[in-house]
Amino acid sequence: MKKVFGWGVVATLALALSASAFDAATAQEAKKAKNVILFIGDGMGFNSDLLGTYWRYGEAGAQSYHKFPVQLGSATFCATDKYDPKKDDGYPVGKIWEGPEAAMHRLQENCPTTDSAASGTALNTGVKTQSGRIGYSKDGKKLENFADINYRAGRSVGVVTTVQISHATPAATSAHNINRGNYEEISKEQINDLPLTVLFGAGHPAYNRGSKINKKPEDLNYQFVGGREVWEAVSKDNGYKGWKFIDEREKFAELAKKTPDTNPTDLPKKILGIGRDNGDMLPIDGFADDESFVEERYSAEAIANTPTLTEMTLGALNVLAQNDKGFYLMVEGGAIDHANHGRNAQNSALEHASFSKAIDAAIEWVEKYSSWDDTIMIVTSDHETGCIWGAGTFEDMDENGKFDPKKDEFNEFAELEESDIGECPEVQYLSSGHSHWLVPFYAKGQGAEIANELVRGNDETAADMWDFSGDFIYNSDVFNVMKAASGLK
Ligand SMILES: [Zn+2]
Repeated sequence: MKKVFGWGVVATLALALSASAFDAATAQEAKKAKNVILFIGDGMGFNSDLLGTYWRYGEAGAQSYHKFPVQLGSATFCATDKYDPKKDDGYPVGKIWEGPEAAMHRLQENCPTTDSAASGTALNTGVKTQSGRIGYSKDGKKLENFADINYRAGRSVGVVTTVQISHATPAATSAHNINRGNYEEISKEQINDLPLTVLFGAGHPAYNRGSKINKKPEDLNYQFVGGREVWEAVSKDNGYKGWKFIDEREKFAELAKKTPDTNPTDLPKKILGIGRDNGDMLPIDGFADDESFVEERYSAEAIANTPTLTEMTLGALNVLAQNDKGFYLMVEGGAIDHANHGRNAQNSALEHASFSKAIDAAIEWVEKYSSWDDTIMIVTSDHETGCIWGAGTFEDMDENGKFDPKKDEFNEFAELEESDIGECPEVQYLSSGHSHWLVPFYAKGQGAEIANELVRGNDETAADMWDFSGDFIYNSDVFNVMKAASGLK
């Protein structure tokens, strides 16, 4: 009888095989996202996303991020001091479809509709809190946010927005304050105390809508950028707290071109960029297919002076990519919310186009200069604004464009009808405030599938309405996805 292997050989071979299989498995398991990119469309519910998509493409599901492999809903309710995360069911499935009253007010006693501060805190800390809080729990404890975790790991953090840098969402991404209205304190923390690498947004004291404000320096509004003293120090651009300072569109655009393959040698270590707007920056690239649309709408001066969200996003990515350990970048389309508060579908579409173009640019950047193996990208929202539905949702008896449950007749939650590219679809706003509707959550890249394991429930009606599985997570789970995907502790 021919002896092939002695037992010792077989055992060694088996051990070797299983060891290499084990190595492969752990290597796979150990692979974590070096870079985390979070896009937040403020006030962008599913129908707001659809409205913007019809404007830009004339068909549903046409955005680059609509092709991401992970597609869920996210429940955004916030928490009162009586909210118990173990007991409360903040999004009882089905209740929202009962009518406009449920959608606009509360679905559960201890879980009212959220504001951007509470939702930004949930997205960045994993903790549901009460409205108005920036990185603080409902019982008043300072919370560690995802940016803090990144600093500790030696990674870089960037915050980019089209609204003031100290507004709720960028504030909740970076700072900590018991009250979102403390703009000066928040921006002082951002500029003086936080190890941020990139901070881009609005709040310029001397300009509005791209035009110089005709007031004496002592009469200008400095609250969004740290107060007068901090502003005057940092805007001199002579290295205050290590910051490079820019405020001209040209400078943002230059930075956007300094991609890693151009081997830039003069990228700043820290950069504060304040667009020339005291309030929201204009969506000067919000047109669908015809640039003349925005040229007629905004002054040449405003266009020359306002950076686009795409320019800011690419500039931020180029600066952050200097850190080999990786980065966390939050980009907010901040004024979609404001357009929806104003029941202005056209402005909402413009803001959305500007937001979705920045996402496209970031996707392209990741594919050229990083990879989906190294990067996770999430596109979501902090809450729905406006209870936007299709034409025919209610009979507007007094024709004032507003829904009054006492005077107007509610018909049904009508689906949005498709429009041609560059045409704004007809919609009806049931409210001028925030609501409880699920918002979209899209994810792609390293660790994106973790979100599927965190699903809290399924809303079948939402599934039919918006063409996804109906599975939803909570906004606070977004933090858990980012943390697990990045492997940071
Ligand atoms: Zn709002």
